[in-house]
Amino acid sequence: MTTALEFDQIRLPPECDELRHEVRAFLADEVARGTFDPHRPGHGDSHSKEFSQRIGAKGWIGMTWPKKYGGRERTFLERYVVTEEFRVANAPVRLHFVADRQSGPILMKYAPEHVKMDVLPRICAGEVCFAIGMSEPNSGSDLFAAKTKATKTQGGWLINGTKIWTSNAHIADYMIALFRTSPPTKENRRHGLTQFLVDMKTPGITVNPVFQLTGMHDFNEVVFQDAFMPDDHVLGEIDGAWKQATSELAYERSGPERFLETFYVLVELVRALGDKPDVRSAEGLGRLVAQLHTLRRMSVSVNGMLQAGKEPVVEGSIVKDMGTVWEQRLPNRVRELAAFIEEREGNRATLEEQLRFATMIAPKLTIQGGTTEVLRGIIARGMGLR
Ligand SMILES: Cc1cc2nc3c(=O)[nH]c(=O)nc-3n(C[C@H](O)[C@H](O)[C@H](O)COP(=O)(O)OP(=O)(O)OC[C@H]3O[C@@H](n4cnc5c(N)ncnc54)[C@H](O)[C@@H]3O)c2cc1C
Repeated sequence: MTTALEFDQIRLPPECDELRHEVRAFLADEVARGTFDPHRPGHGDSHSKEFSQRIGAKGWIGMTWPKKYGGRERTFLERYVVTEEFRVANAPVRLHFVADRQSGPILMKYAPEHVKMDVLPRICAGEVCFAIGMSEPNSGSDLFAAKTKATKTQGGWLINGTKIWTSNAHIADYMIALFRTSPPTKENRRHGLTQFLVDMKTPGITVNPVFQLTGMHDFNEVVFQDAFMPDDHVLGEIDGAWKQATSELAYERSGPERFLETFYVLVELVRALGDKPDVRSAEGLGRLVAQLHTLRRMSVSVNGMLQAGKEPVVEGSIVKDMGTVWEQRLPNRVRELAAFIEEREGNRATLEEQLRFATMIAPKLTIQGGTTEVLRGIIARGMGLR
């Protein structure tokens, strides 16, 4: 039997407009003071503690969280607007973004109260960076094959093994990681994994860089050798992390960052085409904008459902699948539409530079955060098709 998909018809409420203007004014001010260059490719993937702290002071990190943890108790739709504006502006939010999007919500659900009171306000202040330690050599899509082992010892656990592709690990203060605390059982191969809060300063942790096609250093190999984790850094149920993992996915996969990572090439195309594009370019541009509009409506819908306390895992996976395929194709589509732009001094330089960069990052878009094939498996299962 198949299950109906549910994309609630949600629109951003009027209070979001005021917030959007406030964020735009803040960003314009930051550009003017030289914090970042919105036209420089890759800038959105860099980090600045001072900038994150200024964003924290505005109340735009952890903004949906309870006030007692430093949050502002605002809505998911308001958070959506802030995320969208920062991404579109190509602003360097890497330091706090993972913590804001998913590590904080995990801690809120599963960490002991004293850990929440210690860490969450520092996330909201833009002071700490988080990494996600799931993938291992030979265990990416199949998370439940993870082998990095946590062995019980007095007062805590000793960790041994290797995580890979760990974004941010070289700048992170903490990682939320999955470790094996027991072998899988015959009845349940998902059994035996536990989620931990890892303090990256712990002795016995080595971070080795892995460079991307662009030459940038975003992710890493992280090696654990008898690294000690105290008992109060266990998150949730021992051996039962598989039950915790799925609800995280709707947060990770549905936001506007999942289709706006190469957006700057579209903006630059509009600029380079000028106000009198030929019919072919206007039609191509219109098509791209219509597709983007649809993706955005779907993504807003998922965030509205999160606000309503639902867990739209299938809908979030659809947004990530369609969104990342779209943003991956965008550089080539823009290259085709730009082919006949007349060469006048300066009018194509930024576009060419951005296209080169966007083309090099495009392959990763459908891998990070779950591959297209794996997402489609989740969607099929969620709809009762397999
Ligand atoms: C830029 C970037 C940042 C990343 N950051 C992080 C991070 O911070 N933390 C972290 O833990 N990981 C991170 N990853 C790792 C990412 O989550 C994995 O690369 C991804 O889950 C795929 O795992 P894999 O590389 O082991 O490939 P595999 O799982 O080996 O997959 C190889 C191919 O087989 C296909 N495949 C696998 N299983 C199935 C299936 N059941 N059905 C159909 N097809 C299947 C896949 O779609 C893929 O095409 C990052 C990856 C990238 C590219």
